[in-house]
Amino acid sequence: MTEPANNSAPEATPLRRDGNAHYYNQINPPATHFIEQTVAVHLRLSDDGTRWIVDGPSVDGHPLDSTYDDLSATNDECACSQPEECRRRRDYAEALPLPTGAELLAMLAAALDTPAEPMTADQASSWAGRPLTADELDRLSEAIPHSSIPEAIDTIVASWD
Ligand SMILES: [Zn+2]
Repeated sequence: MTEPANNSAPEATPLRRDGNAHYYNQINPPATHFIEQTVAVHLRLSDDGTRWIVDGPSVDGHPLDSTYDDLSATNDECACSQPEECRRRRDYAEALPLPTGAELLAMLAAALDTPAEPMTADQASSWAGRPLTADELDRLSEAIPHSSIPEAIDTIVASWD
């Protein structure tokens, strides 16, 4: 199912790397609907008791859990005056899977305008045998958590003890 993108008015503020405005604008006539969800990232105290770390269930490859009581997407704070259209967009959003931990990592990097690079672009390009574009580096960053690389790094670091 293909959903047309929200109609965007010319933006007064710069867009983030992921192509979205930093904040929903409900002051001017809103160009988009404000459909919200939240996800829980579970933390636990580190094994050495010194800091918070992300707990296993939040990085097990499954979608993160909504923190909303009814787990549903909401348009309660949308400032539009098109309730039918707004409900349709919310229902569409409701069917989208929530991100996994790895997907959230890429989303946060895009929202922060920070490349989610597990290594330098130069290093990755050197291993790839050719210069990689920013888009290819993003794809690489998303693929690495699902590859054998984390295990290889774990093995290497463990061998230092
Ligand atoms: Zn709306």
